[in-house]
Amino acid sequence: MLNDEVRAFLSPGIRPMYVGGQWIHGDPGQTIDVVNPATEKVLTRVYCAGASLVNKAVSEANKAFEHNAPWRRMTPRERERILLTMADLIESSAETIAQLVTLENGKLFSQAFSSDAMGAAHTFRYFAGWATKLEGATLDSSINNKNAAGFAFTQREPVGVVAAIVPWNFPFSIAAWKVAPALAAGCTVILKPSEETPLSALVMAQLSKEAGLPDGVFNVLTGDGAHTGRMLTESKNIDKITFTGSTTTGKSIGQTAMTHMTGLSLELGGKSPAIVFADKAGERNTVKGVINGIFRNQGQVCVAGSRVYIEAKSYEKFVGDLKEEAEKMKLGNGFEKDIDLGPLVSATHLERVQGFIDRSISQGAKLVCGGKQMNRKGYFLPPTILETKDNHLEIVRQEVFGPVLVALPFHSLDEAIELANDNEMGLAATVWTSDIHNAFSLVKRLEAGVVFVNSPVRSDPNLPLGGFKESGLGSELGKSGVYAYTRIKSVNIAY
Ligand code: NAD
Repeated sequence: MLNDEVRAFLSPGIRPMYVGGQWIHGDPGQTIDVVNPATEKVLTRVYCAGASLVNKAVSEANKAFEHNAPWRRMTPRERERILLTMADLIESSAETIAQLVTLENGKLFSQAFSSDAMGAAHTFRYFAGWATKLEGATLDSSINNKNAAGFAFTQREPVGVVAAIVPWNFPFSIAAWKVAPALAAGCTVILKPSEETPLSALVMAQLSKEAGLPDGVFNVLTGDGAHTGRMLTESKNIDKITFTGSTTTGKSIGQTAMTHMTGLSLELGGKSPAIVFADKAGERNTVKGVINGIFRNQGQVCVAGSRVYIEAKSYEKFVGDLKEEAEKMKLGNGFEKDIDLGPLVSATHLERVQGFIDRSISQGAKLVCGGKQMNRKGYFLPPTILETKDNHLEIVRQEVFGPVLVALPFHSLDEAIELANDNEMGLAATVWTSDIHNAFSLVKRLEAGVVFVNSPVRSDPNLPLGGFKESGLGSELGKSGVYAYTRIKSVNIAY
């Protein structure tokens, strides 16, 4: 079932890292086991980069960014061509990438193929187009140029060396959301994938070499957060940190970044509401949309609609429909056909999610379905639905990042908005209604960086994704996603 490239990837030995255009081995005493969450078996091992490798990657990325380095001498069109080649190479390696993502993360192969591999190809192609379209402005100024005329303008420059730190839930596509725009802007990049899912990032490195990126422009450091990630973010020779991960880690990275005034963007956790009005609650499409919005990728999605507010008059029926749909879902190894959910990413994560469920029940939430780890090998948890009327329960307030949905009733538009906004996070929201007044009122008043009406949230390279409140700082994707890797210089010429 696995293709030859994947088999070769999993052959005995420790996978090297990619630094300065070379495959480099680390300390054989410092390695990380990469585990298949569907079988609990070790797939292979990677190095956990220590100080000398982190420093080397930082130094290579700085060298590649020097004024006269090949990368800096390239025209925007040459950068565009390399990114287009990357997109083509990712597309032709999509099966390999998707197999590795399914092995290391557990997700369904079909989703690893469409979201991670093909999604990344679309992202590279989209940002390739931006390489030739970055612009500054000419500006009228009132500066007294002492009898001379003045000409003022802004120009955009790449920020420099970027440290990109990514989580395990979409290991390849989230890496692409950072690497592609940073390269389009002319930066150099050090990517640190999650310790849970480091393999597909190494394929990105391999393809970057084939695409013709000069040595040192793109580097991949494998390692954990506490050592490798921390040392990377503490380096004073990094110009920007772009981080996707939990709010707790994001806050600590934010504090570190201020030590050297390193640029920063943070894409953090979410506890996104789905708001269902009675006029849409009877439609199968709404039930399936809410189910899909939470259970895709086992609920390990930052924008997952993990709390559903249902208009009271439709509440009981809609919860029954959700239960029926959830109980139909089949769990299995991501390579099996006709399954809906794979395992959670790790034993530790499963334990954490189970803890949330157990505590919520002891705090008064009622279990509608699911709720207990399956009695089989692998980290499988069935789709779980809980209900409560208490908007302050931990399960309603905190990100679980698993297949767990909590249902609550609401009685009016204002109450729905109040309940939905009563949370520290503000990443995404969905609204289910055919009433234009309700839809636009919610779009305007919801405190969330992304609002979708009558569909679960999906990403698109041209739609910025960024959190309000504790869900992040800045945004990625879209035009703002590439400009985030530039800095602006104001120039005035007296002539
Ligand atoms: P995490 O914060 O534990 O780890 C994310 C990455 O940060 C990993 O590569 C990890 O090794 C690294 N890291 C950990 N501690 C570090 C430190 N002190 N210094 C530097 N790097 C460190 O998150 P996770 O469990 O991998 O991912 C799940 C989280 O990611 C969820 O909260 C989810 O909502 C969030 N997420 C957000 C988005 C978004 O776009 N907002 C997208 C996907 C995931």
